[in-house]
Amino acid sequence: MVRYLNKFLFSRAMNIAIVGSGYVGLVTGTCFAELGNNVICVDVDKDKISKLNNNVIPIYEPGLEELIKKNRKRLKFTTDLKKAIKESEIIFICVGTPPKENGEADLSYVENVALAIAEVMDSYKIIVEKSTVPVETGEKVAKSIKDYNVHNVDFDVVSNPEFLREGSAVDDFMHPDRIVIGCETERAKKIMKELYSPLKSPIIFTDIKSAEIIKHASNSFLAAKISFINAIANICELAGADIEKVAEGIGFDRRIGRNFLNAGIGYGGFCFPKDAEAFIRIAEKFGYNFKLLRAVQEINNNQRKNFAKKIEKSLWIVKGKTIGVLGLSFKPNTDDMRFAPSIDIITELQKEGAKIKAYDPKAMEKAKSILKNVVYCSNPYDAAKDSDALVIVTEWNEFKELDLKRIKSMMKHPLIIDGRNIYKPEDVKKEGFTYISIGRGEVH
Ligand code: NAD
Repeated sequence: MVRYLNKFLFSRAMNIAIVGSGYVGLVTGTCFAELGNNVICVDVDKDKISKLNNNVIPIYEPGLEELIKKNRKRLKFTTDLKKAIKESEIIFICVGTPPKENGEADLSYVENVALAIAEVMDSYKIIVEKSTVPVETGEKVAKSIKDYNVHNVDFDVVSNPEFLREGSAVDDFMHPDRIVIGCETERAKKIMKELYSPLKSPIIFTDIKSAEIIKHASNSFLAAKISFINAIANICELAGADIEKVAEGIGFDRRIGRNFLNAGIGYGGFCFPKDAEAFIRIAEKFGYNFKLLRAVQEINNNQRKNFAKKIEKSLWIVKGKTIGVLGLSFKPNTDDMRFAPSIDIITELQKEGAKIKAYDPKAMEKAKSILKNVVYCSNPYDAAKDSDALVIVTEWNEFKELDLKRIKSMMKHPLIIDGRNIYKPEDVKKEGFTYISIGRGEVH
């Protein structure tokens, strides 16, 4: 992390408020402090702010704790939104935009912040949408602030969607492929350009609506790539081909690329599922039926259901059997359990009467409040002990290096069902396991 130090020397330090100190807000605020700015991170969650003030980091994100400690002098944590607004020139809205029951994004948290800004601001402010929001939200935020602008001061609304990935968020923020800034005045453009100038990444300036659509289009495209390779994996399974070879063969084509061509049990997390759903609703409002994205979602949902069926089929009678589950978080290197495939898969197996033992390196605390009647284990070997099957749900690196001999000696029955294709079938077979994975046929 030291390599980021003092890169900012050539741009002026700015006063920034980050409203919403979750996965995006906390990383954004910390990284802006690392770039030399004075940052106030705000949250309504008193417990989160109190933890942060006591140097306890409420989320797991590689490198974040270290970077917060290093920049503690330039970082403040508070629940006092009004004070943070007053003291800042740029206000980043990083609150959640969770799905409503009908799949649309719930923008009430964004509106609450906009109204607070309108009430309090007494000098020029740039209000930046960093949360993922539907196209036209910028217009609505600007209108709300204008309508309630108590001190009648100038302001600009900017859309600056965030593309960081949980698990590598700090590095993604510091080295983004691109920075997208949707803004409509030269004044805001100049300040935003200066703010991001220490990062040596291309900046794409657009109008606000285009920036908003870039975010939904990017996430939907990536979700589509995952569902595409999973559909091909299903064909491979039926035809007796090997999806790993097929993905390699496709991925070498530079027009396609190898990233996001990993067959598995599909995407989860706080972004892809809700953003795809929200984008379908946005398109619908404009009168466009986004059938392609609906198919992407359907394939993704079926992928988990089919995986649970695979487990059930391989055990024949599930009732009373013990299943060891490795990995609970929606992806490796995060403790985030939101929309994690493990939730659906474990719930389905429990419904069929299975006893679940589970291990995850970082997500067990969060999982405990979601998944009940699970025996949470202290390591992968404990989860395998006396199990009739070992199921791999999240591809944490430590699972790739397990001592399979030891695992086999502890299990009741040597069966591995791998939802992330982390092993070579021949290696597992050599150890005497039955190995079932995705798109590669069964190995006995
Ligand atoms: P999060 O739930 O981790 O954090 C949101 C925070 O906002 C919470 O701590 C909540 O208490 C706080 N909050 C809500 N209302 C508030 C208010 N009025 N004032 C102050 N704080 C308030 O969510 P997140 O994962 O950080 O996502 C935030 C936004 O960024 C979402 O729109 C999401 O789609 C988008 N996004 C997320 C990621 C990701 O990987 N998590 C990546 C890119 C974009």
